[in-house]
Amino acid sequence: ANIVAIVGRPNVGKSTLFNRLTESRKAIVDDFSGVTRDRHYEMAEWIGKKFTVIDTGGFVHGSDDIFEEAIRDQVHIAIEEASVIIFMVDVKTGTTDLDDEIADLLRRTSKPVYVVANKVDHAKLHHDSSEFYAFGLGEIFNVSSATGSGTGELLDAVVSHFPEPEEEEEEDYLPKVTIVGRPNVGKSSLTNALLGTDRNIVTDIAGTTRDTIKIHYNQFGHEFLLVDTAGLRRKSKVNEDIEFYSVMRTIRALEDSDVVVLMLDANDGIEAQDINIFHLAEKNKKGIVIVVNKWDTIEKDNKTMKEFEARIKEKIAPFTDVPIIFTSVTEKQRIFKVVETAMEVHRNKTKKIPTSKLNEVMLGVIENYPPPAIKGKYIKVKYATQLPGKAPMFAFFCNLPQYIKDPYKRYVENKLRDNFDFTGVPIQVYFRQK
Ligand code: GDP
Repeated sequence: ANIVAIVGRPNVGKSTLFNRLTESRKAIVDDFSGVTRDRHYEMAEWIGKKFTVIDTGGFVHGSDDIFEEAIRDQVHIAIEEASVIIFMVDVKTGTTDLDDEIADLLRRTSKPVYVVANKVDHAKLHHDSSEFYAFGLGEIFNVSSATGSGTGELLDAVVSHFPEPEEEEEEDYLPKVTIVGRPNVGKSSLTNALLGTDRNIVTDIAGTTRDTIKIHYNQFGHEFLLVDTAGLRRKSKVNEDIEFYSVMRTIRALEDSDVVVLMLDANDGIEAQDINIFHLAEKNKKGIVIVVNKWDTIEKDNKTMKEFEARIKEKIAPFTDVPIIFTSVTEKQRIFKVVETAMEVHRNKTKKIPTSKLNEVMLGVIENYPPPAIKGKYIKVKYATQLPGKAPMFAFFCNLPQYIKDPYKRYVENKLRDNFDFTGVPIQVYFRQK
């Protein structure tokens, strides 16, 4: 996974830079109104390379006396988990003791570190940043997060560490499945229930930026790779309980997978962090299965499951065509159903609809409810085809694609789901000029 962590003391402008680097994506997410999410990590893209940016500052909570320690924790985790580190300082205040401390930590890593002098809002301030060479961390990038100046050069440098997009496609033919969720929801228990002690680890490339392990599962007619990061805990200075750490682990496992099993605790329901992970999986075009675990601990009647499901769907809208399974790992309830469903979602994700079938069904659907005419102009959809790709994408060719609005795209997406079953899979619908 390509992970960029922004570290630095408070108020240097980390979150402003974070917003800059992720802004094109954020516009899409903000469409999903209704839920407020605190977004400290987000996907970004530069010259065709995708990566996840993390604002470490967003994870610092608590009183002032634990502040410095919290920041040190963030830096340690960034060093362990990120592929590239952006160390942000403030040209207006200059070097502080805390900056020096952070620099001391960063000098010990062999990972690429970029010192970014922020608030260089005009050229006059350029040489003020030269004091930061004293960190001994190499070149200084002058930026203004507020205006965006200098961020292009920074991004060029950052993404130079990431592989070309086509090299990223791995040739593994087995589906890759990962179990994610907050601490204590039952992830390890599920992993153990599925695999027992007989673990066949097929890849173990610890120490590289792609160090997830993959465990080969082959039982009862299902074969897949279970992507796991938990087995990789190294001896470190890192406090593994802090949220930031689990988030980084999750992002890494998620990016390396085809299907994400998002596990919740029935006692807590779906929380903000779960919704963040859900949307990250959705935007990464991963298959998704939601598992509500510890179902044994819930008092229930014949409506409880339906109500639970409705509440979850309300929070993950608009993409609600997602399977939800209620399990008890300790009572071995519906554990195998998780495997079956994950495999089904993977089949949905990789299936190709024959063009003739697609046109037969979808042109009929469109004829029944055509896109509304705009300014007396009629929109005629002539032809549809599924585009090649790792997740389902459909192109509809028509005379005036610019007139097709989002509600109509959603209508077409829903009809695709009704007719072809894409349960658990984000799909894309494009309208193009014939
Ligand atoms: P992880 O942090 O997500 O890997 O969670 P663990 O697998 O370590 O589980 C945390 C705790 O929840 C352990 O004490 C488990 O025994 C317990 N647990 C896991 N699944 C269930 C379940 O289905 N029902 C109940 N009652 N407890 C469970």
